[in-house]
Amino acid sequence: MKRTEYRLVLLGPPGSGKGTQAILLSIHYRIPQISTGDILRAETLQISELGRTVSGYMVQGLLVPDDLMIAIARKRLAENDCARGFILDGFPRTIGQARSLQENGISIDDVIYLDVSDNVLLKRLTGRRICPGCSRMYHMQFNPPETDEICDDCGIALITRDDDGERIVRKRIGIFHEMTFPLIDHFKKLSGVRFHSINGFLADAGSPQEVFRQIRSDLETAGS
Ligand code: ADP
Ligand code: ZN
Repeated sequence: MKRTEYRLVLLGPPGSGKGTQAILLSIHYRIPQISTGDILRAETLQISELGRTVSGYMVQGLLVPDDLMIAIARKRLAENDCARGFILDGFPRTIGQARSLQENGISIDDVIYLDVSDNVLLKRLTGRRICPGCSRMYHMQFNPPETDEICDDCGIALITRDDDGERIVRKRIGIFHEMTFPLIDHFKKLSGVRFHSINGFLADAGSPQEVFRQIRSDLETAGS
């Protein structure tokens, strides 16, 4: 029988390609991508107490505290468009956040872990550039724009994310190992959840598409 519901969690270190895969999955399965990083970045653009607090953690590469994150995720998951499934991109990131899903009766069907080595992450993140107009992502080495540091679509100058400098990137990777890596075991042991480990760094040119194909094939085999 063909699966009709997908409640997915994308797990992986910063720079593992969660955002890219989440967009591809969202289009393919017609379910919303819930990126807590994007929600938080939108919050930091508000001139508000909350925006300032969130920004303080993010620019330092630190995790936003669990109580705040859990409230944000809960609110988003209660919206109508999540009824038929969702892709959590960047949540949960701690054991406390993972437990909050269970405590709130939010069940997860599949967890997809994108496995990428630390030296690859460092290279990917420090070369990353984003268009402030359309959010299109580039990489100065692997996926550069046609004209130096200018968006192909909008013609405006690309920017580096505040937290993509090398020192902060190293810190984010360290925090991943300490706080988020234990979730692999947590989800492997959780009954009712299918766990998929995917090689997030394939050498071919069409790498993101190749990773996507692997994820789909894993999900669809598991569901039949
Ligand atoms: P990446 O996965 O590349 O680090 P994100 O956009 O997912 O990028 O997250 C950027 C930052 O947002 C994190 O470094 C952290 O400060 C904050 N953040 C995002 N999601 C969470 C979360 N679930 N818990 C705590 N902090 C978070
Ligand atoms: Zn653009």
